[in-house]
Amino acid sequence: MKVLLNTSIKHYEHCRAYFSDTEYIPTENLVWAAGVNGAEVPGLPAEAVTRNKRVTVNRWNQVEGLPNVFAIGDLANMVTEDMPRGLPMLAPVAQQQADQLAENLQRLLRGEAPKNFVYKNKGAMAIVSRNKAVVDLPKNVHFNGFFGWLTWLFVHLMTLVGFRNKVVAFVDWAFSYFSSDQALRLIIRPFSRKDVKDDKGKKSAEHRTATPEYNPTPPAIQTPA
Ligand SMILES: Cc1cc2nc3c(=O)[nH]c(=O)nc-3n(C[C@H](O)[C@H](O)[C@H](O)COP(=O)(O)OP(=O)(O)OC[C@H]3O[C@@H](n4cnc5c(N)ncnc54)[C@H](O)[C@@H]3O)c2cc1C
Repeated sequence: MKVLLNTSIKHYEHCRAYFSDTEYIPTENLVWAAGVNGAEVPGLPAEAVTRNKRVTVNRWNQVEGLPNVFAIGDLANMVTEDMPRGLPMLAPVAQQQADQLAENLQRLLRGEAPKNFVYKNKGAMAIVSRNKAVVDLPKNVHFNGFFGWLTWLFVHLMTLVGFRNKVVAFVDWAFSYFSSDQALRLIIRPFSRKDVKDDKGKKSAEHRTATPEYNPTPPAIQTPA
């Protein structure tokens, strides 16, 4: 194993993980654990845009330098005393900021001072396999296994907005559970195998795409009569 420090991946294409336009590692497997970027919002002051293209906001979710522009959720980088690198990019943060901002906008309209946002950490959960999940709750409450999995399902179902969405998600999950059908669909292009040698002359397999582009015939453009 070779660990490359201070090196970032620029892009991944045709089974190659590129460090620059010319340097790459041939690999068929890429595990991306580097997080996500915010979608750029044109027109914001450059000093407001920070790491991962997140936008710096104050405790009222006001974008730095723009008192009438607000950002919440993943896009908003809110630094607090206990979270100097910004609040985590999690659904509860986004939901709680949405509630707080709605209240603050009403307060501003009434000419009252807005309230500071305070994140209430209700814990974290993750599914680890079929029928298994881990649950971490505040006050050092941890559990896992089947009960953790049921808890994950229940909490995520309850946080969906509207009765219809809850029913649709429940039926969808039940169908996938009993049919073992994955919702994930991948389009995999045909490939041909070519044996290549690495810089030490050792053989390593590299895949080349046989068709340069996945290019299905687009549907004919309809024009109004
Ligand atoms: C794989 C994965 C797993 C996750 N698992 C968990 C989890 O288990 N628990 C948890 O709490 N959090 C989880 N998260 C994080 C969670 O999804 C986010 O924190 C949450 O969705 C943030 O909400 P948001 O409203 O800020 O952004 P989003 O939910 O991303 O909503 C932003 C919306 O804006 C739209 N958009 C983007 N650009 C534009 C544009 N230019 N114009 C119009 N619309 C635009 C996007 O299409 C999207 O619908 C996960 C995230 C990922 C990627």
